Amino acid sequence: MRLSQMLFVTLRDDPADAEIPSHKLLLRAGYIRRIGAGIYAYLPFMWRVLQKVSQIVREEMNAINGQETLLPQLQPSELWKESGRWDTYTKAEGIMFAFTDRREQEVALGPTHEEVITYIARDMIRSYRQLPQTLYQIQTKFRDEIRPRFGLMRGREFIMKDAYSFHPDEESLKKTYQDMYVAYSNILRRSGLQFRAVEADSGAIGGSGSTEFMVLAEAGEDEVLYTEDGKYAANVEKAVSLPIDPETSPFTICEKRETPGTETIEKLCNFLKCSPTSVVKNVLYQVTYDNGMTVLILVSIRGDQEVNEVKLINELTKLAGDYNAKTILSLSVPDTDAQKKWTAKPLPLGYIAPNIADDYIQSVKDIAPKFLRLVDKTAVELKNFVTGANESSFHLVGANWDKDIKSPNNIVDIRKSRPGDRAVHDPEQIIQSARGIEAGHIFQLGTKYSEIMGATYTNEQGEEKPLVMGCYGVGVSRLAQAAVEQSYDKDGIIWPVAIAPYHAIVTVPNINDAQQMEAAEKLYAELNSSGIETLLDDRNERAGVKFKDADLIGIPYRIVTGKALANGKVEVVQRASKKAQEIAIEEVVSTIKKWVEEAIK
Ligand code: ATP
Ligand code: MG
Repeated sequence: MRLSQMLFVTLRDDPADAEIPSHKLLLRAGYIRRIGAGIYAYLPFMWRVLQKVSQIVREEMNAINGQETLLPQLQPSELWKESGRWDTYTKAEGIMFAFTDRREQEVALGPTHEEVITYIARDMIRSYRQLPQTLYQIQTKFRDEIRPRFGLMRGREFIMKDAYSFHPDEESLKKTYQDMYVAYSNILRRSGLQFRAVEADSGAIGGSGSTEFMVLAEAGEDEVLYTEDGKYAANVEKAVSLPIDPETSPFTICEKRETPGTETIEKLCNFLKCSPTSVVKNVLYQVTYDNGMTVLILVSIRGDQEVNEVKLINELTKLAGDYNAKTILSLSVPDTDAQKKWTAKPLPLGYIAPNIADDYIQSVKDIAPKFLRLVDKTAVELKNFVTGANESSFHLVGANWDKDIKSPNNIVDIRKSRPGDRAVHDPEQIIQSARGIEAGHIFQLGTKYSEIMGATYTNEQGEEKPLVMGCYGVGVSRLAQAAVEQSYDKDGIIWPVAIAPYHAIVTVPNINDAQQMEAAEKLYAELNSSGIETLLDDRNERAGVKFKDADLIGIPYRIVTGKALANGKVEVVQRASKKAQEIAIEEVVSTIKKWVEEAIK
């Protein structure tokens, strides 16, 4: 392609609405244009990058027997009602664009395709002889993200490869999951990214084991916890670890103490001269389930620890049945307004104990009459602890479970792991933290969707069994931007060769110089015909402008038909290292071909 004929516009200054380097650079270099919140046009360079990423993804999926398909983006609500996710996706998470068509039918734009694929499997898979199956597609997904940001990183319309597999049993699922693990690792490695595979939470998709593939970058929205020995890595949402040991409590006798103005753990510990590890703190939450039922939750946890709300949501989802509900609509820490709706009398905020009486809750419709009391393991282990006295300005010190406060029934792990904790697999290993961009996520779904939607097959013994499923997503557009986030310098993007829009750019310093133009045209034609994707910068611009633009758009190799022509040579500059060398004209094609091949091996 000739730059003189391209819609090629670069910006000198950083666009005001872009926060992270990759977003700024993609805008400045003319790869993308913002059309609306979380909505972007992929301009010609970007589209080439996306096609290259897609091609790598396609090759890796085909290599493990994936069959490419294309499923509808427009999805009838019936399917989502069958799976029980219509309310979760339209109301609770509210992430699905849903509307009513002119036939008065509810439809949605696909944020994901478990329902559609399970519907197909129910229809087409009958026998164990047809199993296993893996289907995938590369397609635009729609999600009404609350906070679309960082350009393609979190769009409301973005490109995803999603794959779904069907199996007779867990063993077969595990094999495909392992194949996917390798395929995903290959996709990221071949795209030139540094990444870490981490244990992950399965979220609203459901199911058992899942792994996220995190591209390591400071701008990442996710926190990854890992150990140096390489044996443990998990998303902080999912991570487990051993907290530091609690200090021995200075209190040996259980008594009520006046502790005015100590609503926070810090103030309390200063006042009582004790460690936060001697305190049982009690955090109030309120959850609303899909049947409209609101439940007040009291989480008791060691004073120095934080609640992991993802783990809390998982526990509350498990308990949904106790309230005749299926899923959660919302979880929050009730503010003063929210409290007014259900409190029978003012709460002793900051001084609550695990055994606060249920009569603080008014008897009103759709409010559970009792607190749901969840106690984190860190609190259960404490002896002679400090906690609220259920009376403003008073705490209990030297308290013990059973003796002073009834032992909890619901013991759970809902603490947030953090750097500095010890690892479970080896307490000598200290947990470290890094930022990551989630590029891919693979799930062992099990029978969640097949059971609820009745997708079954007949096994060898003639019995009807639910299909065992897996699902696997990779964010094609997010991955492309993540590559930039990992690879740029002050002058612009440095594309990994495998996904660069072009491999090389021939820059003509002065288009009015016939010799320069002639050499450039010749190289441009030869490079392209030998499979090296090459641009020709034949614009009527100053050489400096052209060099700046070539650096900004990040093409791996720049060939300059300048002064060296006098010696039968051209200057070749490698974008990543800025290394410049003069190469004889007749050796340019073979040299660059070798570099490209080596880089994408
Ligand atoms: P996140 O936690 O970042 O919202 P997710 O858990 O919702 O991601 P999945 O449903 O597993 O993501 O989707 C598969 C992949 O699609 C993700 O790993 C990510 O790479 C990509 N992806 C998800 N949401 C977006 C988005 N809003 N914009 C761009 N890519 C996305
Ligand atoms: Mg999401």
